[in-house]
Amino acid sequence: MHRFHDFCRRSLDDIKRQGRYRTFTSLQKQADRFPLYRRPDGREVLVWSSNDYLGMGVSAAVIEAAAEAAHSMGAGAGGTRNIGGTSPQVHELEAELADLHGKQAGLLFTSGFVSNQAALAAILNSTPEGPDRRWICFSDEKNHASMIAGIKGSRAVVQIFRHNDIAHLGELLAAAPADAPKLVAFESVYSMDADIAPIGRICELAGRFGAMTYLDEVHAVGLYGPQGGGVSERDGVAPCVDIIEGTLAKGFGCHGGYIAGDAEVVDYIRSVAPGFIFTTSLPPPTVVAALASVRHLRRDPDLRVKLFERTAALKARLLAAGLPVMHSESHILPLHIGEAARCRAVSQRLLDEFAMYATPINYPTVPRGGERLRITPCPFHTDAMMDRLVDALTIVLEPERRVAA
Ligand SMILES: *Cc1c(COP(=O)(O)O)cnc(C)c1O
Repeated sequence: MHRFHDFCRRSLDDIKRQGRYRTFTSLQKQADRFPLYRRPDGREVLVWSSNDYLGMGVSAAVIEAAAEAAHSMGAGAGGTRNIGGTSPQVHELEAELADLHGKQAGLLFTSGFVSNQAALAAILNSTPEGPDRRWICFSDEKNHASMIAGIKGSRAVVQIFRHNDIAHLGELLAAAPADAPKLVAFESVYSMDADIAPIGRICELAGRFGAMTYLDEVHAVGLYGPQGGGVSERDGVAPCVDIIEGTLAKGFGCHGGYIAGDAEVVDYIRSVAPGFIFTTSLPPPTVVAALASVRHLRRDPDLRVKLFERTAALKARLLAAGLPVMHSESHILPLHIGEAARCRAVSQRLLDEFAMYATPINYPTVPRGGERLRITPCPFHTDAMMDRLVDALTIVLEPERRVAA
């Protein structure tokens, strides 16, 4: 056996000892029963952790759009954007997304992860101030792994600022050489902490130091703002953000990622980013379904309104039952558990005994001691479902439930 195999086994043993070994719960989405999923044994499970936040992935119009596109254009794109992978619908979707964010241009990627990794690396490896002047990237300490992949995989000097901490960001910006190209990279809704960045203040600060801004709105697009343009739309600050990045896989319920920004910047990334150039473009059914989803959510706020009504209803129930709901400014309700093994056990008991699923979030995704269940209500969770969840959590978290929060 190759030495690498030994290495793998030892590493996996370590991961298991630390309680970090990943197992995936097998759950099949049911388009006509969402948010009820099916386990391999046929039992139904009520899911509380889907990122298909609005159920757009199971909406009849979106499914129909995907099915029609599959029949007329086939299952796969059959090439990169350069090699026959650019259908008129791809251009339409890019224009729609640019328009959603009030930007000049949009660019699709095969996922939100790829869009962050590819776009950030492309920007940060460029040399606008000459070959000897590296970018300085100011990165929120809670940024998603995909942004970190793009930033760390580039030549940029990285400066990490404390989470949503304007004063700290200001200090770091002030201390940086005035002539270095600078980029501030951050998110709007942080999905593990359920809090929201002060986008306007961050952009104002960045502007004062001549820094560009890059905002990940993955957990907000479709959900926030009058047309689902994200928190930057809700707060009226989208024009101040240089590049907005989003996904088609969460609020929009489909798949794929994108950026939107000024035409020259987007065109540059389109022209140099390997993660954009050298991969097959999104499948036609996905592109057409995403277009239907984005257009629906732009003109009809109904699901957004329901989502926030349902979130408030569940939060009130959890609090009334004395359950350890953590601070939340968003549609995400984290429930504090505080220990990795217990967090997994609580989630497992919910599944085995109560046929409900909520994702356990453990270190390193959150700090040790901050282990939590991540609950994301959707417009289709009924009052009766919420009562079921609260009753189950009350049993599963006894007697230690008041220790937390
Ligand atoms: C999920 C996520 C991504 C990646 O998006 P995908 O479309 O799932 O690849 C990027 N950023 C954040 C903050 C995310 O949570």
